[in-house]
Amino acid sequence: MMSVENNDQHYDVLVVGAGFAGLYLLHRLRAQGMRVKVFEAGDDVGGTWYWNRYPGARCDVESLEYSFSFSEELQQEWKWSERYAGQPEILRYLQHVADRFDLRRDVLFNTRVARARFSPARNEWTVNTEAGEQYRARYCVMATGNLSKASVPDIPGIESFKGRWFHTSAWPKEPVDFTGLRVGVVGTGSTGIQLVPRVAEQARHLYVFQRTANYCIPLRNGPQDAGIERDVKGRYAAVRKQARESPSGVAGFNVPTQSVLEVRPEEREAAFERRWNWGGIGLTRAFNDVLFNEESNRIASEYVKRKMREVVKDPKVADALTPTYPIGTKRLCADTGYFQAFNRDNVTLVDIRRSPIRAMGPHSVETGEATYEVDALIFATGFDAMTGTLLAIDIGVENGPTLRSLWADGPHAYLGLMVAGLPNLFMVTGPGSPSVLSNVVVSIEQHVEWITNCLAHMQERGLDHIEALADAQQTWGDHVNEVAGRSLLAKASSWYTGANIPGKPRGFIPYMGGVGAFRAHCDEVARNGYQGFALSTARQAQGSPA
Ligand SMILES: Cc1cc2nc3c(=O)[nH]c(=O)nc-3n(C[C@H](O)[C@H](O)[C@H](O)COP(=O)(O)OP(=O)(O)OC[C@H]3O[C@@H](n4cnc5c(N)ncnc54)[C@H](O)[C@@H]3O)c2cc1C
Repeated sequence: MMSVENNDQHYDVLVVGAGFAGLYLLHRLRAQGMRVKVFEAGDDVGGTWYWNRYPGARCDVESLEYSFSFSEELQQEWKWSERYAGQPEILRYLQHVADRFDLRRDVLFNTRVARARFSPARNEWTVNTEAGEQYRARYCVMATGNLSKASVPDIPGIESFKGRWFHTSAWPKEPVDFTGLRVGVVGTGSTGIQLVPRVAEQARHLYVFQRTANYCIPLRNGPQDAGIERDVKGRYAAVRKQARESPSGVAGFNVPTQSVLEVRPEEREAAFERRWNWGGIGLTRAFNDVLFNEESNRIASEYVKRKMREVVKDPKVADALTPTYPIGTKRLCADTGYFQAFNRDNVTLVDIRRSPIRAMGPHSVETGEATYEVDALIFATGFDAMTGTLLAIDIGVENGPTLRSLWADGPHAYLGLMVAGLPNLFMVTGPGSPSVLSNVVVSIEQHVEWITNCLAHMQERGLDHIEALADAQQTWGDHVNEVAGRSLLAKASSWYTGANIPGKPRGFIPYMGGVGAFRAHCDEVARNGYQGFALSTARQAQGSPA
Protein backbone atom coordinates (compact mmCIF):
# COMPACT_ATOMS: atom_id res chain seq x y z
CA MET A 1 0.00 0.00 0.00
CA MET A 2 1.35 3.45 -0.88
CA SER A 3 2.12 5.85 1.92
CA VAL A 4 -0.29 8.58 2.86
CA GLU A 5 2.40 11.21 2.36
CA ASN A 6 3.07 10.19 -1.23
CA ASN A 7 -0.34 9.72 -2.56
CA ASP A 8 -3.21 10.96 -0.51
CA GLN A 9 -5.97 12.85 -2.14
CA HIS A 10 -8.52 14.79 -0.15
CA TYR A 11 -12.23 15.05 -0.81
CA ASP A 12 -15.33 15.90 1.16
CA VAL A 13 -17.09 12.65 0.30
CA LEU A 14 -15.91 9.36 -1.15
CA VAL A 15 -18.61 7.23 -2.75
CA VAL A 16 -18.22 3.56 -3.62
CA GLY A 17 -20.35 2.40 -6.58
CA ALA A 18 -21.70 4.06 -9.74
CA GLY A 19 -25.11 2.47 -10.16
CA PHE A 20 -28.38 4.35 -9.62
CA ALA A 21 -27.30 5.20 -6.06
CA GLY A 22 -23.74 6.39 -6.71
CA LEU A 23 -24.76 8.51 -9.69
CA TYR A 24 -27.52 10.31 -7.83
CA LEU A 25 -25.27 10.86 -4.82
CA LEU A 26 -22.62 12.43 -6.99
CA HIS A 27 -25.17 14.71 -8.63
CA ARG A 28 -26.63 15.89 -5.32
CA LEU A 29 -23.36 16.26 -3.44
CA ARG A 30 -21.77 18.18 -6.27
CA ALA A 31 -24.77 20.53 -6.33
CA GLN A 32 -24.11 21.15 -2.62
CA GLY A 33 -20.57 22.27 -3.48
CA MET A 34 -18.85 19.18 -2.13
CA ARG A 35 -15.72 17.63 -3.60
CA VAL A 36 -16.64 14.06 -4.41
CA LYS A 37 -14.83 11.05 -5.82
CA VAL A 38 -16.70 7.93 -6.88
CA PHE A 39 -15.02 4.52 -7.18
CA GLU A 40 -16.46 1.93 -9.53
CA ALA A 41 -15.12 -1.58 -10.12
CA GLY A 42 -16.66 -1.73 -13.60
CA ASP A 43 -15.42 0.24 -16.58
CA ASP A 44 -18.63 2.25 -16.90
CA VAL A 45 -21.63 3.43 -14.93
CA GLY A 46 -24.77 1.32 -14.48
CA GLY A 47 -24.12 -1.04 -11.55
CA THR A 48 -26.63 -3.91 -11.75
CA TRP A 49 -27.35 -2.99 -15.36
CA TYR A 50 -23.66 -2.89 -16.28
CA TRP A 51 -22.94 -6.36 -14.87
CA ASN A 52 -26.11 -8.38 -15.52
CA ARG A 53 -26.01 -8.70 -19.31
CA TYR A 54 -27.43 -12.22 -19.51
CA PRO A 55 -30.06 -12.96 -22.17
CA GLY A 56 -33.49 -11.96 -20.92
CA ALA A 57 -32.29 -9.55 -18.20
CA ARG A 58 -34.90 -6.88 -17.59
CA CYS A 59 -36.62 -5.05 -14.77
CA ASP A 60 -39.93 -6.24 -13.37
CA VAL A 61 -41.10 -2.86 -12.11
CA GLU A 62 -42.51 -0.86 -15.03
CA SER A 63 -39.86 1.39 -16.53
CA LEU A 64 -41.96 4.53 -16.23
CA GLU A 65 -41.62 3.94 -12.49
CA TYR A 66 -38.25 2.14 -12.37
CA SER A 67 -36.39 5.34 -13.20
CA PHE A 68 -35.16 8.53 -11.59
CA SER A 69 -37.72 11.13 -10.55
CA PHE A 70 -35.33 13.87 -9.45
CA SER A 71 -35.27 15.73 -12.77
CA GLU A 72 -38.48 16.69 -14.55
CA GLU A 73 -36.54 17.25 -17.79
CA LEU A 74 -34.95 13.81 -17.58
CA GLN A 75 -38.20 11.97 -16.93
CA GLN A 76 -39.96 13.84 -19.72
CA GLU A 77 -37.25 13.46 -22.36
CA TRP A 78 -36.41 9.79 -21.86
CA LYS A 79 -38.57 7.41 -23.89
CA TRP A 80 -38.80 3.79 -22.78
CA SER A 81 -39.36 1.47 -25.71
CA GLU A 82 -40.90 -1.33 -23.65
CA ARG A 83 -43.21 -1.56 -20.66
CA TYR A 84 -40.39 -3.32 -18.79
CA ALA A 85 -37.05 -2.29 -20.26
CA GLY A 86 -34.35 -4.82 -20.96
CA GLN A 87 -30.83 -4.54 -19.55
CA PRO A 88 -29.32 -2.81 -22.62
CA GLU A 89 -31.93 -0.04 -22.47
CA ILE A 90 -31.60 0.52 -18.70
CA LEU A 91 -27.82 0.67 -19.13
CA ARG A 92 -28.24 3.22 -21.97
CA TYR A 93 -30.52 5.23 -19.67
CA LEU A 94 -27.93 5.34 -16.88
CA GLN A 95 -25.22 6.23 -19.38
CA HIS A 96 -27.48 9.04 -20.58
CA VAL A 97 -27.94 10.21 -16.97
CA ALA A 98 -24.15 10.22 -16.51
CA ASP A 99 -23.66 12.27 -19.69
CA ARG A 100 -26.57 14.62 -19.14
CA PHE A 101 -25.38 15.60 -15.67
CA ASP A 102 -21.69 15.37 -16.60
CA LEU A 103 -21.01 12.78 -13.91
CA ARG A 104 -18.25 10.65 -15.43
CA ARG A 105 -15.44 13.12 -14.73
CA ASP A 106 -15.63 12.38 -11.01
CA VAL A 107 -15.83 8.61 -11.30
CA LEU A 108 -12.74 6.42 -11.16
CA PHE A 109 -13.62 3.35 -13.21
CA ASN A 110 -11.89 -0.04 -13.05
CA THR A 111 -11.21 0.77 -9.42
CA ARG A 112 -12.23 -1.64 -6.70
CA VAL A 113 -12.16 -0.42 -3.12
CA ALA A 114 -10.48 -2.93 -0.81
CA ARG A 115 -10.34 -1.13 2.51
CA ALA A 116 -11.78 1.87 4.34
CA ARG A 117 -10.50 3.11 7.71
CA PHE A 118 -11.80 5.92 9.88
CA SER A 119 -9.27 7.89 11.86
CA PRO A 120 -10.87 9.39 15.01
CA ALA A 121 -7.85 11.69 15.39
CA ARG A 122 -8.21 13.19 11.90
CA ASN A 123 -11.97 12.69 11.73
CA GLU A 124 -11.75 11.29 8.23
CA TRP A 125 -11.97 8.15 6.18
CA THR A 126 -9.06 6.73 4.22
CA VAL A 127 -10.06 4.52 1.34
CA ASN A 128 -7.59 2.13 -0.29
CA THR A 129 -8.16 0.72 -3.73
CA GLU A 130 -7.08 -2.76 -4.77
CA ALA A 131 -4.43 -1.08 -6.94
CA GLY A 132 -2.92 0.48 -3.80
CA GLU A 133 -4.09 4.07 -4.23
CA GLN A 134 -5.27 6.00 -1.23
CA TYR A 135 -7.94 8.68 -0.88
CA ARG A 136 -9.19 10.61 2.11
CA ALA A 137 -12.42 12.36 2.91
CA ARG A 138 -14.53 13.46 5.84
CA TYR A 139 -17.38 11.18 4.81
CA CYS A 140 -17.71 7.91 2.97
CA VAL A 141 -20.88 6.53 1.38
CA MET A 142 -21.27 2.91 0.36
CA ALA A 143 -23.47 2.83 -2.74
CA THR A 144 -22.36 -0.71 -3.38
CA GLY A 145 -25.75 -2.26 -4.15
CA ASN A 146 -27.89 -4.93 -2.48
CA LEU A 147 -27.45 -7.46 -5.25
CA SER A 148 -23.91 -7.07 -6.37
CA LYS A 149 -21.76 -9.79 -4.80
CA ALA A 150 -22.29 -12.98 -6.77
CA SER A 151 -22.94 -16.29 -5.06
CA VAL A 152 -21.17 -19.07 -6.97
CA PRO A 153 -21.61 -22.61 -5.64
CA ASP A 154 -18.43 -24.39 -4.71
CA ILE A 155 -18.70 -27.50 -6.89
CA PRO A 156 -15.85 -30.00 -6.77
CA GLY A 157 -14.16 -30.36 -10.15
CA ILE A 158 -15.32 -27.00 -11.54
CA GLU A 159 -11.71 -26.15 -12.41
CA SER A 160 -11.54 -29.24 -14.64
CA PHE A 161 -14.54 -28.14 -16.72
CA LYS A 162 -13.41 -27.65 -20.34
CA GLY A 163 -16.43 -25.68 -21.54
CA ARG A 164 -17.21 -22.03 -20.77
CA TRP A 165 -19.02 -21.24 -17.57
CA PHE A 166 -20.69 -18.01 -16.57
CA HIS A 167 -22.29 -16.29 -13.62
CA THR A 168 -25.20 -14.19 -14.84
CA SER A 169 -23.94 -11.12 -12.96
CA ALA A 170 -20.54 -11.18 -14.66
CA TRP A 171 -21.81 -11.79 -18.17
CA PRO A 172 -19.41 -11.01 -21.04
CA LYS A 173 -19.98 -7.79 -22.95
CA GLU A 174 -20.05 -9.54 -26.30
CA PRO A 175 -23.13 -11.71 -26.95
CA VAL A 176 -22.67 -15.40 -26.17
CA ASP A 177 -23.94 -17.79 -28.83
CA PHE A 178 -25.25 -21.09 -27.47
CA THR A 179 -26.34 -22.38 -30.87
CA GLY A 180 -25.74 -26.11 -31.16
CA LEU A 181 -24.45 -26.42 -27.57
CA ARG A 182 -25.60 -28.53 -24.66
CA VAL A 183 -26.08 -26.00 -21.89
CA GLY A 184 -26.75 -26.30 -18.16
CA VAL A 185 -28.42 -23.57 -16.10
CA VAL A 186 -28.08 -23.83 -12.34
CA GLY A 187 -30.65 -21.78 -10.44
CA THR A 188 -34.32 -20.99 -11.02
CA GLY A 189 -34.87 -17.70 -9.19
CA SER A 190 -35.76 -14.42 -10.93
CA THR A 191 -32.65 -14.57 -13.10
CA GLY A 192 -32.84 -18.22 -14.18
CA ILE A 193 -36.49 -17.70 -15.00
CA GLN A 194 -35.65 -14.78 -17.31
CA LEU A 195 -32.75 -16.62 -18.90
CA VAL A 196 -34.11 -20.14 -19.54
CA PRO A 197 -36.58 -19.33 -22.36
CA ARG A 198 -33.95 -17.28 -24.20
CA VAL A 199 -31.20 -19.91 -23.99
CA ALA A 200 -33.71 -22.66 -24.84
CA GLU A 201 -34.29 -20.94 -28.20
CA GLN A 202 -30.60 -21.39 -29.08
CA ALA A 203 -29.21 -24.42 -27.29
CA ARG A 204 -29.15 -27.90 -28.76
CA HIS A 205 -30.22 -29.07 -25.33
CA LEU A 206 -30.80 -27.20 -22.11
CA TYR A 207 -30.66 -28.83 -18.67
CA VAL A 208 -32.29 -26.69 -15.98
CA PHE A 209 -30.91 -27.66 -12.57
CA GLN A 210 -33.60 -26.69 -10.08
CA ARG A 211 -33.23 -26.73 -6.31
CA THR A 212 -36.37 -24.70 -5.58
CA ALA A 213 -39.47 -24.48 -7.74
CA ASN A 214 -40.59 -20.86 -7.69
CA TYR A 215 -43.79 -18.93 -8.27
CA CYS A 216 -43.91 -16.93 -11.49
CA ILE A 217 -46.43 -14.48 -12.80
CA PRO A 218 -46.38 -13.67 -16.53
CA LEU A 219 -44.70 -10.29 -17.02
CA ARG A 220 -46.79 -9.39 -20.09
CA ASN A 221 -44.08 -7.17 -21.43
CA GLY A 222 -44.52 -5.40 -24.74
CA PRO A 223 -43.86 -2.09 -26.46
CA GLN A 224 -44.51 0.90 -24.21
CA ASP A 225 -48.11 1.96 -24.81
CA ALA A 226 -48.06 5.54 -26.12
CA GLY A 227 -51.31 6.47 -24.37
CA ILE A 228 -50.08 5.23 -20.99
CA GLU A 229 -46.78 7.03 -21.46
CA ARG A 230 -48.60 10.29 -22.30
CA ASP A 231 -50.85 9.87 -19.31
CA VAL A 232 -48.03 9.14 -16.85
CA LYS A 233 -45.81 11.90 -18.20
CA GLY A 234 -48.74 14.31 -18.01
CA ARG A 235 -49.04 13.76 -14.25
CA TYR A 236 -45.59 12.47 -13.38
CA ALA A 237 -45.27 14.49 -10.16
CA ALA A 238 -48.45 12.91 -8.78
CA VAL A 239 -47.43 9.41 -9.92
CA ARG A 240 -44.04 9.73 -8.24
CA LYS A 241 -45.61 11.07 -5.05
CA GLN A 242 -47.99 8.14 -4.94
CA ALA A 243 -45.06 5.73 -5.42
CA ARG A 244 -43.04 7.39 -2.64
CA GLU A 245 -45.95 7.13 -0.23
CA SER A 246 -46.96 3.58 -1.21
CA PRO A 247 -45.89 0.35 0.54
CA SER A 248 -43.69 -0.93 -2.28
CA GLY A 249 -42.61 2.22 -4.11
CA VAL A 250 -44.90 1.58 -7.05
CA ALA A 251 -47.79 3.91 -7.87
CA GLY A 252 -49.42 1.37 -10.18
CA PHE A 253 -50.41 -0.97 -7.35
CA ASN A 254 -53.46 0.09 -5.39
CA VAL A 255 -53.01 -0.41 -1.67
CA PRO A 256 -55.23 -3.41 -0.84
CA THR A 257 -57.78 -2.96 1.93
CA GLN A 258 -59.49 -6.35 2.04
CA SER A 259 -58.53 -9.77 3.36
CA VAL A 260 -58.64 -12.77 1.04
CA LEU A 261 -60.94 -14.32 3.60
CA GLU A 262 -63.56 -11.61 3.66
CA VAL A 263 -64.61 -11.80 0.00
CA ARG A 264 -66.68 -14.43 -1.81
CA PRO A 265 -64.71 -17.06 -3.80
CA GLU A 266 -65.79 -15.62 -7.17
CA GLU A 267 -64.73 -12.09 -6.16
CA ARG A 268 -61.41 -13.42 -4.94
CA GLU A 269 -60.88 -15.32 -8.18
CA ALA A 270 -61.74 -12.19 -10.18
CA ALA A 271 -59.26 -10.10 -8.18
CA PHE A 272 -56.44 -12.61 -8.72
CA GLU A 273 -57.41 -12.92 -12.36
CA ARG A 274 -57.15 -9.13 -12.85
CA ARG A 275 -53.64 -9.13 -11.39
CA TRP A 276 -52.65 -12.23 -13.36
CA ASN A 277 -53.80 -10.65 -16.60
CA TRP A 278 -52.21 -7.30 -15.80
CA GLY A 279 -48.94 -9.18 -15.28
CA GLY A 280 -45.92 -8.63 -13.09
CA ILE A 281 -45.22 -9.09 -9.43
CA GLY A 282 -48.20 -7.29 -7.88
CA LEU A 283 -50.36 -10.39 -7.43
CA THR A 284 -49.70 -10.81 -3.73
CA ARG A 285 -50.99 -7.27 -3.27
CA ALA A 286 -54.46 -8.17 -4.53
CA PHE A 287 -55.38 -8.49 -0.83
CA ASN A 288 -53.91 -7.09 2.34
CA ASP A 289 -53.06 -10.36 4.07
CA VAL A 290 -51.49 -12.70 1.50
CA LEU A 291 -48.09 -12.22 3.11
CA PHE A 292 -49.42 -12.35 6.66
CA ASN A 293 -52.16 -14.95 6.99
CA GLU A 294 -51.43 -18.60 6.25
CA GLU A 295 -54.89 -19.43 4.96
CA SER A 296 -55.01 -16.32 2.73
CA ASN A 297 -51.59 -17.19 1.46
CA ARG A 298 -52.60 -20.79 0.78
CA ILE A 299 -55.52 -19.61 -1.36
CA ALA A 300 -53.29 -17.24 -3.36
CA SER A 301 -50.61 -19.95 -3.70
CA GLU A 302 -53.15 -22.47 -5.01
CA TYR A 303 -54.43 -19.95 -7.56
CA VAL A 304 -50.96 -19.39 -9.02
CA LYS A 305 -50.03 -23.09 -8.93
CA ARG A 306 -53.20 -23.89 -10.88
CA LYS A 307 -52.38 -21.25 -13.51
CA MET A 308 -48.86 -22.59 -13.88
CA ARG A 309 -50.03 -26.16 -14.26
CA GLU A 310 -52.33 -25.12 -17.09
CA VAL A 311 -49.23 -24.29 -19.15
CA VAL A 312 -46.95 -27.29 -18.55
CA LYS A 313 -48.00 -30.31 -20.61
CA ASP A 314 -46.13 -33.14 -18.85
CA PRO A 315 -47.78 -33.70 -15.44
CA LYS A 316 -44.53 -35.02 -13.92
CA VAL A 317 -42.64 -31.91 -15.00
CA ALA A 318 -45.53 -29.76 -13.76
CA ASP A 319 -45.28 -31.50 -10.37
CA ALA A 320 -41.57 -30.77 -10.19
CA LEU A 321 -42.16 -27.12 -11.16
CA THR A 322 -44.81 -26.61 -8.50
CA PRO A 323 -43.58 -24.60 -5.52
CA THR A 324 -43.97 -26.02 -2.03
CA TYR A 325 -43.57 -22.83 0.00
CA PRO A 326 -46.05 -19.98 0.65
CA ILE A 327 -46.21 -17.51 -2.25
CA GLY A 328 -44.31 -14.25 -1.80
CA THR A 329 -42.09 -15.50 1.01
CA LYS A 330 -39.26 -15.73 -1.50
CA ARG A 331 -38.90 -13.06 -4.21
CA LEU A 332 -41.87 -13.43 -6.54
CA CYS A 333 -40.66 -13.97 -10.12
CA ALA A 334 -42.06 -12.61 -13.35
CA ASP A 335 -41.62 -14.64 -16.50
CA THR A 336 -41.83 -14.44 -20.23
CA GLY A 337 -42.34 -17.99 -21.48
CA TYR A 338 -40.61 -19.80 -18.61
CA PHE A 339 -43.13 -22.62 -18.12
CA GLN A 340 -43.69 -22.85 -21.88
CA ALA A 341 -39.97 -23.61 -22.26
CA PHE A 342 -40.50 -26.93 -20.46
CA ASN A 343 -42.87 -28.02 -23.23
CA ARG A 344 -39.93 -27.98 -25.67
CA ASP A 345 -38.17 -31.22 -26.58
CA ASN A 346 -34.75 -29.67 -26.00
CA VAL A 347 -35.36 -28.67 -22.34
CA THR A 348 -34.97 -31.05 -19.39
CA LEU A 349 -35.72 -30.17 -15.78
CA VAL A 350 -33.30 -31.76 -13.30
CA ASP A 351 -34.34 -31.84 -9.64
CA ILE A 352 -31.21 -31.08 -7.63
CA ARG A 353 -33.13 -30.84 -4.37
CA ARG A 354 -33.72 -34.59 -4.57
CA SER A 355 -30.28 -35.32 -5.93
CA PRO A 356 -27.81 -32.42 -5.56
CA ILE A 357 -24.96 -31.65 -7.95
CA ARG A 358 -21.99 -33.62 -6.63
CA ALA A 359 -19.22 -32.74 -9.04
CA MET A 360 -18.27 -31.43 -12.43
CA GLY A 361 -16.14 -33.24 -14.97
CA PRO A 362 -14.40 -31.81 -18.06
CA HIS A 363 -17.69 -32.00 -20.03
CA SER A 364 -20.33 -32.86 -17.49
CA VAL A 365 -22.37 -32.09 -14.41
CA GLU A 366 -22.89 -35.01 -12.06
CA THR A 367 -25.75 -35.44 -9.64
CA GLY A 368 -26.28 -38.43 -7.37
CA GLU A 369 -28.61 -39.87 -10.01
CA ALA A 370 -27.06 -39.13 -13.40
CA THR A 371 -24.34 -37.47 -15.43
CA TYR A 372 -25.35 -34.65 -17.80
CA GLU A 373 -23.05 -33.87 -20.72
CA VAL A 374 -22.78 -30.09 -21.16
CA ASP A 375 -20.64 -27.75 -23.28
CA ALA A 376 -21.46 -24.63 -21.27
CA LEU A 377 -22.75 -23.96 -17.78
CA ILE A 378 -24.57 -20.89 -16.50
CA PHE A 379 -24.84 -20.12 -12.79
CA ALA A 380 -28.00 -18.12 -12.13
CA THR A 381 -27.36 -18.57 -8.43
CA GLY A 382 -27.93 -15.04 -7.26
CA PHE A 383 -26.13 -12.99 -4.68
CA ASP A 384 -24.79 -12.74 -1.18
CA ALA A 385 -27.53 -10.16 -0.87
CA MET A 386 -27.59 -6.89 1.07
CA THR A 387 -24.53 -7.49 3.23
CA GLY A 388 -22.07 -9.41 0.99
CA THR A 389 -20.71 -6.44 -0.94
CA LEU A 390 -20.20 -4.37 2.20
CA LEU A 391 -18.48 -7.18 4.07
CA ALA A 392 -16.20 -7.80 1.09
CA ILE A 393 -14.61 -4.42 1.86
CA ASP A 394 -12.46 -4.26 5.00
CA ILE A 395 -14.30 -1.40 6.71
CA GLY A 396 -13.41 -0.22 10.22
CA VAL A 397 -12.14 2.36 12.67
CA GLU A 398 -8.41 2.65 13.42
CA ASN A 399 -7.78 0.65 16.61
CA GLY A 400 -11.53 0.17 16.82
CA PRO A 401 -14.32 -2.01 15.54
CA THR A 402 -14.62 -3.34 12.00
CA LEU A 403 -17.84 -3.86 10.10
CA ARG A 404 -17.04 -7.57 10.05
CA SER A 405 -16.79 -7.66 13.84
CA LEU A 406 -19.89 -5.52 14.34
CA TRP A 407 -21.88 -7.76 11.99
CA ALA A 408 -20.44 -11.11 13.11
CA ASP A 409 -23.89 -12.27 14.26
CA GLY A 410 -25.80 -10.53 11.45
CA PRO A 411 -26.24 -6.95 10.23
CA HIS A 412 -27.13 -4.12 12.61
CA ALA A 413 -27.90 -0.67 11.27
CA TYR A 414 -29.95 2.38 12.10
CA LEU A 415 -32.54 2.99 9.37
CA GLY A 416 -30.25 1.15 6.97
CA LEU A 417 -28.25 4.39 6.83
CA MET A 418 -25.45 4.03 9.39
CA VAL A 419 -23.87 1.47 11.69
CA ALA A 420 -23.25 2.43 15.32
CA GLY A 421 -19.49 2.43 15.87
CA LEU A 422 -18.62 3.60 12.34
CA PRO A 423 -18.84 7.41 12.29
CA ASN A 424 -19.29 9.44 9.10
CA LEU A 425 -20.01 6.31 7.05
CA PHE A 426 -23.36 6.04 5.29
CA MET A 427 -24.96 3.23 3.33
CA VAL A 428 -27.61 3.53 0.63
CA THR A 429 -30.46 1.01 1.07
CA GLY A 430 -28.61 -0.74 3.88
CA PRO A 431 -29.99 -3.49 6.15
CA GLY A 432 -33.16 -2.48 7.96
CA SER A 433 -34.43 -0.30 5.10
CA PRO A 434 -37.06 -1.36 2.51
CA SER A 435 -34.37 -1.91 -0.17
CA VAL A 436 -35.07 -5.16 -2.07
CA LEU A 437 -38.70 -5.26 -0.94
CA SER A 438 -39.37 -2.08 -2.87
CA ASN A 439 -38.98 -0.39 -6.21
CA VAL A 440 -35.32 0.09 -5.38
CA VAL A 441 -34.92 3.33 -7.34
CA VAL A 442 -37.54 4.97 -5.11
CA SER A 443 -35.70 3.72 -2.02
CA ILE A 444 -32.36 4.89 -3.41
CA GLU A 445 -33.68 8.39 -4.07
CA GLN A 446 -35.11 8.57 -0.55
CA HIS A 447 -31.84 7.49 1.10
CA VAL A 448 -29.67 9.69 -1.09
CA GLU A 449 -31.84 12.72 -0.38
CA TRP A 450 -31.83 12.00 3.35
CA ILE A 451 -28.03 11.62 3.44
CA THR A 452 -27.31 14.71 1.36
CA ASN A 453 -29.83 16.79 3.34
CA CYS A 454 -28.18 15.59 6.54
CA LEU A 455 -24.74 16.62 5.28
CA ALA A 456 -26.09 20.03 4.23
CA HIS A 457 -27.64 20.43 7.70
CA MET A 458 -24.29 19.63 9.31
CA GLN A 459 -22.38 21.92 6.97
CA GLU A 460 -24.66 24.84 7.77
CA ARG A 461 -24.03 24.35 11.48
CA GLY A 462 -20.29 23.77 11.28
CA LEU A 463 -20.66 20.12 12.35
CA ASP A 464 -18.46 17.42 10.87
CA HIS A 465 -19.05 14.24 12.88
CA ILE A 466 -22.10 11.98 12.87
CA GLU A 467 -22.67 8.65 14.52
CA ALA A 468 -25.67 6.39 14.89
CA LEU A 469 -26.42 5.76 18.56
CA ALA A 470 -26.35 2.13 19.66
CA ASP A 471 -29.66 2.28 21.52
CA ALA A 472 -31.48 3.89 18.58
CA GLN A 473 -30.02 1.22 16.31
CA GLN A 474 -31.18 -1.50 18.70
CA THR A 475 -34.69 -0.06 18.93
CA TRP A 476 -34.92 0.18 15.14
CA GLY A 477 -33.58 -3.36 14.73
CA ASP A 478 -36.21 -4.64 17.18
CA HIS A 479 -38.90 -2.85 15.17
CA VAL A 480 -37.60 -4.32 11.88
CA ASN A 481 -37.74 -7.80 13.43
CA GLU A 482 -41.12 -7.24 14.99
CA VAL A 483 -42.66 -6.14 11.66
CA ALA A 484 -41.01 -9.02 9.79
CA GLY A 485 -42.13 -11.44 12.50
CA ARG A 486 -45.77 -10.56 11.84
CA SER A 487 -45.38 -11.71 8.23
CA LEU A 488 -44.80 -15.11 6.68
CA LEU A 489 -41.56 -13.91 5.06
CA ALA A 490 -39.43 -14.13 8.19
CA LYS A 491 -40.22 -17.85 8.52
CA ALA A 492 -39.02 -18.75 5.03
CA SER A 493 -35.56 -19.83 3.91
CA SER A 494 -34.70 -17.19 1.33
CA TRP A 495 -32.04 -14.71 0.38
CA TYR A 496 -34.03 -12.16 2.42
CA THR A 497 -32.92 -14.13 5.49
CA GLY A 498 -29.43 -15.06 4.31
CA ALA A 499 -30.39 -18.73 3.87
CA ASN A 500 -28.83 -18.99 0.37
CA ILE A 501 -25.28 -18.44 1.65
CA PRO A 502 -23.68 -21.22 3.71
CA GLY A 503 -22.61 -19.92 7.11
CA LYS A 504 -24.35 -16.54 6.78
CA PRO A 505 -26.12 -15.55 10.01
CA ARG A 506 -29.89 -15.97 9.63
CA GLY A 507 -32.22 -13.05 10.14
CA PHE A 508 -34.68 -11.04 8.10
CA ILE A 509 -32.61 -8.18 6.64
CA PRO A 510 -34.88 -5.65 4.85
CA TYR A 511 -37.62 -3.53 6.45
CA MET A 512 -41.15 -4.75 5.71
CA GLY A 513 -43.00 -1.72 7.04
CA GLY A 514 -43.27 -0.15 3.58
CA VAL A 515 -41.58 2.59 1.64
CA GLY A 516 -44.08 5.31 2.57
CA ALA A 517 -44.02 4.61 6.30
CA PHE A 518 -40.23 4.33 6.25
CA ARG A 519 -39.86 7.66 4.48
CA ALA A 520 -42.21 9.35 6.96
CA HIS A 521 -40.18 7.93 9.85
CA CYS A 522 -36.83 9.05 8.38
CA ASP A 523 -38.26 12.54 7.77
CA GLU A 524 -39.46 12.72 11.35
CA VAL A 525 -36.05 11.64 12.63
CA ALA A 526 -34.49 14.50 10.64
CA ARG A 527 -37.11 17.02 11.79
CA ASN A 528 -36.42 16.05 15.40
CA GLY A 529 -32.77 17.09 15.05
CA TYR A 530 -31.61 13.75 13.67
CA GLN A 531 -32.94 11.77 16.58
CA GLY A 532 -30.88 8.67 17.29
CA PHE A 533 -27.80 10.15 15.66
CA ALA A 534 -25.12 12.12 17.50
CA LEU A 535 -24.13 15.18 15.47
CA SER A 536 -21.13 17.13 16.67
CA THR A 537 -17.80 18.63 15.77
CA ALA A 538 -14.88 16.25 15.64
CA ARG A 539 -13.41 17.89 18.73
CA GLN A 540 -16.60 17.34 20.71
CA ALA A 541 -16.68 13.74 19.50
CA GLN A 542 -13.13 13.12 20.69
CA GLY A 543 -13.87 14.67 24.06
CA SER A 544 -16.95 12.56 24.57
CA PRO A 545 -16.68 9.26 26.43
CA ALA A 546 -18.30 7.56 23.40
C1 LIG B 1 -31.02 -8.88 -12.69
C2 LIG B 1 -31.56 -7.87 -11.73
C3 LIG B 1 -32.80 -7.29 -11.96
C4 LIG B 1 -33.31 -6.36 -11.09
N1 LIG B 1 -34.54 -5.83 -11.33
C5 LIG B 1 -35.05 -4.92 -10.47
C6 LIG B 1 -36.36 -4.37 -10.67
O1 LIG B 1 -37.06 -4.71 -11.61
N2 LIG B 1 -36.81 -3.48 -9.77
C7 LIG B 1 -36.08 -3.09 -8.70
O2 LIG B 1 -36.53 -2.27 -7.93
N3 LIG B 1 -34.84 -3.57 -8.51
C8 LIG B 1 -34.32 -4.49 -9.34
N4 LIG B 1 -33.08 -5.00 -9.11
C9 LIG B 1 -32.28 -4.50 -7.98
C10 LIG B 1 -31.21 -3.50 -8.46
O3 LIG B 1 -30.00 -3.97 -7.98
C11 LIG B 1 -31.54 -2.11 -7.99
O4 LIG B 1 -32.80 -1.75 -8.52
C12 LIG B 1 -30.54 -1.01 -8.39
O5 LIG B 1 -30.06 -1.15 -9.69
C13 LIG B 1 -29.41 -0.93 -7.38
O6 LIG B 1 -28.62 0.19 -7.65
P1 LIG B 1 -27.40 0.55 -6.69
O7 LIG B 1 -26.75 1.73 -7.27
O8 LIG B 1 -27.85 0.60 -5.29
O9 LIG B 1 -26.46 -0.73 -6.75
P2 LIG B 1 -25.76 -1.46 -8.02
O10 LIG B 1 -26.51 -1.17 -9.25
O11 LIG B 1 -25.58 -2.85 -7.60
O12 LIG B 1 -24.39 -0.71 -8.11
C14 LIG B 1 -23.38 -0.91 -7.17
C15 LIG B 1 -22.04 -0.68 -7.84
O13 LIG B 1 -21.05 -0.70 -6.83
C16 LIG B 1 -19.90 -1.26 -7.37
N5 LIG B 1 -19.09 -1.78 -6.28
C17 LIG B 1 -19.45 -2.67 -5.33
N6 LIG B 1 -18.41 -2.91 -4.50
C18 LIG B 1 -17.38 -2.15 -4.94
C19 LIG B 1 -16.06 -1.95 -4.49
N7 LIG B 1 -15.57 -2.58 -3.42
N8 LIG B 1 -15.29 -1.07 -5.17
C20 LIG B 1 -15.76 -0.41 -6.26
N9 LIG B 1 -17.01 -0.57 -6.73
C21 LIG B 1 -17.81 -1.42 -6.07
C22 LIG B 1 -20.39 -2.38 -8.28
O14 LIG B 1 -19.46 -2.66 -9.28
C23 LIG B 1 -21.66 -1.78 -8.84
O15 LIG B 1 -21.45 -1.21 -10.10
C24 LIG B 1 -32.56 -5.97 -9.96
C25 LIG B 1 -31.32 -6.57 -9.72
C26 LIG B 1 -30.83 -7.52 -10.58
C27 LIG B 1 -29.51 -8.15 -10.28
